[in-house]
Formats: sequence, structure tokens, C-alpha cells
Amino acid sequence: MSDAIPSSPREAYDLLLAGNRRFAAGTPLHPNQDAARRADLTSAQRPFAVLLGCSDSRLAAEIIFDQGLGDLFVVRTAGHAAGPEVLGSIEYGVSVLDCPLVVVLGHDACGAVAATRAAVADGRAAPGYLRDVIERVTPSVLAAHAAGASEDEEFIATHVRHTVDFVMDRSRELADQVARGRTAVVGLTYRLADGSAHPVTARGLDLPTDPSDHPGTTPRAEVA
Ligand SMILES: [Zn+2]
Repeated sequence: MSDAIPSSPREAYDLLLAGNRRFAAGTPLHPNQDAARRADLTSAQRPFAVLLGCSDSRLAAEIIFDQGLGDLFVVRTAGHAAGPEVLGSIEYGVSVLDCPLVVVLGHDACGAVAATRAAVADGRAAPGYLRDVIERVTPSVLAAHAAGASEDEEFIATHVRHTVDFVMDRSRELADQVARGRTAVVGLTYRLADGSAHPVTARGLDLPTDPSDHPGTTPRAEVA
């Protein structure tokens, strides 16, 4: 799989989604997971994508995208909440490791989104540092409410879009790299039941989406 490392956002996206299709179909290749690959990577890494995903145990990045060692630079937090260290990690992946793609990965039945919806509904603050996660997800939940959302998938898609907007807004480095065409940011939602990932928004990459594929979400990829 590493014969030709993707150098463009499109190549990286196609490689990543091809892996997800293999996983969803139950025909994974488990690439780049042997001792030879491990040895090849001893001196350097050249991952082709940064992945900011939810920490949910069912969302293991290299498994659901059928990748291996050295392929993905992964940052995962509950509800893909993006604080300073997360933004710094994304910038490291893009600027130092030259990743041509950044993926924000959300999923249905997300506990962080559900907890935030509950916190917004009853107005009670969460205990401990869980509060920080809830506070990061709250703007997405409020925006989805304001747009009339009622279904889980609408809240999930809104939170993925908001996270893409957030990382682009907060990280000047990332926005510059996207503007220069060196990387792109894509928001994906993942379905736990069938293992498939679907684009809901993109920056720096033109991604046509199937409206029937995303009920309750904006039937287009936003390109800016
Ligand atoms: Zn989650």
C-alpha cells in the first residue's frame, strides 16, 4: 500500500476511502502491518493523513480505514473535541510531516454528543474535565437545535462540520496550507452498523456527495 505515498489531497482521500470500503465489505488487506514495514519506518515516518476522530472504542482508525503502521497520524478525543494540543498535533502532521489530508471523523450514537445534548437539555454542568469536552461540543448542539434538528445523525453531521470550521478558523497554519493546496480538510461521518464512512464537508477538495446518502444533512460538500 505504501508503494506510492499520496502527495495530493485527492490521492490521499481516495486511498483512505478505498481502505474503508474494504473494511466495510469485510475484505480488509491489513496492509503495512508486518515486521518489514516496522523496520522500514525505524528512521522516519511519512503518514499520508492526519485523522482527528472520536475516541470511541469502535472507531479504531487503522482498522476501519484498513491501514497500517506509518499510514495515519491519529489524534482522538471524546467527541473529537479540539483544544490547543489537538490543534498543535494537527499542525505537526500538516507542517512537519507534510500530510496532504486532514480528516475529522464523527460517528452515529456518539456518547459525547449525546451527553452534550443531555447537558444542554437539563442545564447542568458536567463534572470534572468532562465539562471541557461538553463545552467543546455545545456550540454544535446549539446550532443543530437552531436549525431544527431532531435526529441523531443531524447532530453528528453538524458537529463534524463545526469541528472542520473550528480547526480551520483556529489554526492559521492549517488554513494557509489548505489555501496553498498542500492539504485539504474533510469531514466524515461513520456508521457503526455497516462500518462505512461518508463525506459531509470538505475544504480544499471538491467532494460530490449523494443527497440520498445523507438524509438530514446538507446534500453537498462545502468547498472553500
Ligand atoms: Zn463519539
